[in-house]
Amino acid sequence: MLDIAVIGGGAAGFFAAINIKIKHPHLKVAILEKTKTVLGKVRISGGGRCNVTHACFSPKDLITFYPRGKKELLAIFNQFAPSETIQWFKEKGVELKTESDGRMFPVTDSSETIVNCFLNECEKHQIKIQINYPVQSIEKGEHSFIIHGENEQIEAKQIVIATGSSNYFWQLLKTFGHTLVAPVPSLFTFNIQHPLIQQLQGVAIPNVSVKLQVEKTLIKKLGLNAADLEQKGSLLFTHWGLSGPAILKLSAVGARLLNHQNYEFDIALNFCDEAKEETVLNVLNAQRKLNPKKQVSTTSIYNLPSRFLESTRSNDSN
Ligand SMILES: Cc1cc2nc3c(=O)[nH]c(=O)nc-3n(C[C@H](O)[C@H](O)[C@H](O)COP(=O)(O)OP(=O)(O)OC[C@H]3O[C@@H](n4cnc5c(N)ncnc54)[C@H](O)[C@@H]3O)c2cc1C
Repeated sequence: MLDIAVIGGGAAGFFAAINIKIKHPHLKVAILEKTKTVLGKVRISGGGRCNVTHACFSPKDLITFYPRGKKELLAIFNQFAPSETIQWFKEKGVELKTESDGRMFPVTDSSETIVNCFLNECEKHQIKIQINYPVQSIEKGEHSFIIHGENEQIEAKQIVIATGSSNYFWQLLKTFGHTLVAPVPSLFTFNIQHPLIQQLQGVAIPNVSVKLQVEKTLIKKLGLNAADLEQKGSLLFTHWGLSGPAILKLSAVGARLLNHQNYEFDIALNFCDEAKEETVLNVLNAQRKLNPKKQVSTTSIYNLPSRFLESTRSNDSN
């Protein structure tokens, strides 16, 4: 009988199994993986380079990057945060490097380094990796769990469930008495059918402010922070609508709200350094006085691309 069966051979399963064995070497631990390969997502992560962690060393600052669960994460990050992650890999011979935007990758620029580190640690700590073991059901006995695979069963005193986004396991957790918050999509782009947007596909604009227009009562009802519903960053026009970091961040902070609205919502975009309409008009009028014959699209107003200025002008005249 196993002491601990870790179900799921992804990053979470491996990290859990290895740390259990580091802290409790006498325990018999195995990883049970449904498919024939483990760590599949780690291999493709970060474009094949694996963005392991981020150079942000204060837990208070780190939680600001997360759209939900800040309070719960603070307690966790106070125990294990990027500094500990860097140290953990260093002790296993994996050096990380920091890019200018703070992302941290292995110096080899290859996710294979992380995969090999996990596999070596499993070998070193005698963690059995059982592939092709799709867990079908789990029976809870008085002192152990019986984990049913396709053709066999494994008994373990304790189990760790690390099956990622498996809906089957979410439902199974409910049968063990856990409560679950319903998941909703996050980090998505916005599908908007508008002639102006279609004309602009491929245009990227830095420093755009994007705000979800929502009634205050709804914001309160969903327990959201109104300030979060306005995000700033680059915006990209695509053939289906809007994308880019500002939109992705907004989709994450507004994930529950947008789901509640059935993905029909109004947004306000400010391309002019968050300036108010009156200020923008004053800037335009000043430009007109200075260069009465010049087209707006040939000015460098608010550093906006000429294609953007040109298309808003032609759209106004339609
Ligand atoms: C394209 C892409 C790039 C990414 N880049 C990064 C990055 O650079 N940095 C970063 O931090 N994150 C990145 N991520 C996110 C990251 O890959 C995931 O958050 C992480 O891999 C999730 O790990 P996990 O162990 O929780 O789940 P998974 O990796 O999904 O592992 C779950 C495992 O459980 C197994 N399983 C499911 N059901 C059963 C069953 N019934 N029986 C047995 N086993 C089962 C699955 O086969 C799978 O192997 C990226 C994701 C993608 C898709």
